[in-house]
Amino acid sequence: MRILIKNGMVVRSTGRKKADVLIKDGKIKRIAPEIDAKADRVIDAAGCYIFAGFIDTHTHFDLDLGVTVTADNFETGTKAAVVGGTTTVLDFATQDHGMTMHDALELWHKKAEKSSSNYGFHMAVSEWNDARKAEVDDMFKAGVSSFKMYMVYDAMKVNDGQIYDAQKFIGERGGVIGVHCENYDVLQARIAEEKAKGHMDPTAHPVTRPQAVEAEGVARLMRIAELSGYPAWVVHLSTADGLEEVRAARKRGVEVYAETCPQYITLDVKRYADPDGAKFVMSPPLREAKDRAAILDGMKKKDIDFIGTDHCSFTMAQKALGKDDFSKIPNGGAGVQNRAELVYTYAVKTGAITLEQMALLMSERAARLFGMFPEKGALRVGSDADIVIFDPDDKHTILWKTNLHACDNSPYEGMEVLGRTRDVVLNGELVVENGTLVKPYCGKYVFRKPSERYRK
Ligand SMILES: [Zn+2]
Repeated sequence: MRILIKNGMVVRSTGRKKADVLIKDGKIKRIAPEIDAKADRVIDAAGCYIFAGFIDTHTHFDLDLGVTVTADNFETGTKAAVVGGTTTVLDFATQDHGMTMHDALELWHKKAEKSSSNYGFHMAVSEWNDARKAEVDDMFKAGVSSFKMYMVYDAMKVNDGQIYDAQKFIGERGGVIGVHCENYDVLQARIAEEKAKGHMDPTAHPVTRPQAVEAEGVARLMRIAELSGYPAWVVHLSTADGLEEVRAARKRGVEVYAETCPQYITLDVKRYADPDGAKFVMSPPLREAKDRAAILDGMKKKDIDFIGTDHCSFTMAQKALGKDDFSKIPNGGAGVQNRAELVYTYAVKTGAITLEQMALLMSERAARLFGMFPEKGALRVGSDADIVIFDPDDKHTILWKTNLHACDNSPYEGMEVLGRTRDVVLNGELVVENGTLVKPYCGKYVFRKPSERYRK
């Protein structure tokens, strides 16, 4: 299969230029002005940007919380992903108590069989002991070079000493660990306080997890990494103060990677008072204008490394599990389809970042940190042909009904966005045409190398 993309503007982190792109046998064959070559398919990309396929560093598909399972599985989640320009998702395979990492990996491979985008797995670990450590080398051999730990959630939380030890053990092997940073004890105490006051609706959620709850967790992780001498990756950074902790740690020489999510540059904490406020219950919670400005500033100054969605969707019926108690609302929202258009609208069109920085944030840095570069995250000869043709002139409204995800709500419902993923080439095949998924189930497992650790 040969595809020739004509007349587009090729956008890379290093600059943009008008060029044609020739694809053959799943790889990029040539990038040059005015390519005249035979092709099975010629795509006119005049007026469009051409990006390396976007990478979502943070999804939770088919995640069983015990009380309920996410609305999206890999089948629906990756359809939504690819139609929105995400050609690779990194999902969290989750080693629950009583499971091995091998069990979790096998289970996630099964879950992901019907995927329409490429996919890789981070390994989220709920236990850190000799038995789990004995599995780590096998994870690397299976293409898993990134892990995750939580400071919160009873089913997942580990202690600071375990994070410290894991950073050393996994860091030594060329891996990185993402950590969900919040102060568990304080937020539990604050949940009890709000409940004691009879404050049970979703507006209590952000009160229990204010800025300092995240910033303390981030500060602690920074110091743990300083002590271990290995890198830290802060997942879903949402606050101005948290970002300041990252910056301060870097000044001390700590190697830190920071991820944020579209909800932290687009949505306001006041939304919890909406009639459907439960759909915004996610952790960290939505923040204030000053936090959004700070996160955008972090993106502009390249202090934020990449953007994942933390897609973890639930229907309104599932959200109603907490209708009388906000702390029982399943945490998370749907976002995997809308990341590119949200970042384009709220960060590029507002002048906060350039198109080149969008390429950096949406794919290149993720590919580097997570051991996929330059096969992924790059528009180069020899790279995998995962390519997004993005139409900057489109204007549309986000509606859950037209999204491909399987849940009956979207945190972004009714928002007007600029730009749209028009076509997607995945593994050298045209899978999305004019916004429609024409070839589902072409996703492949992405075997990942050790981390490039570009901030080392
Ligand atoms: Zn998450």
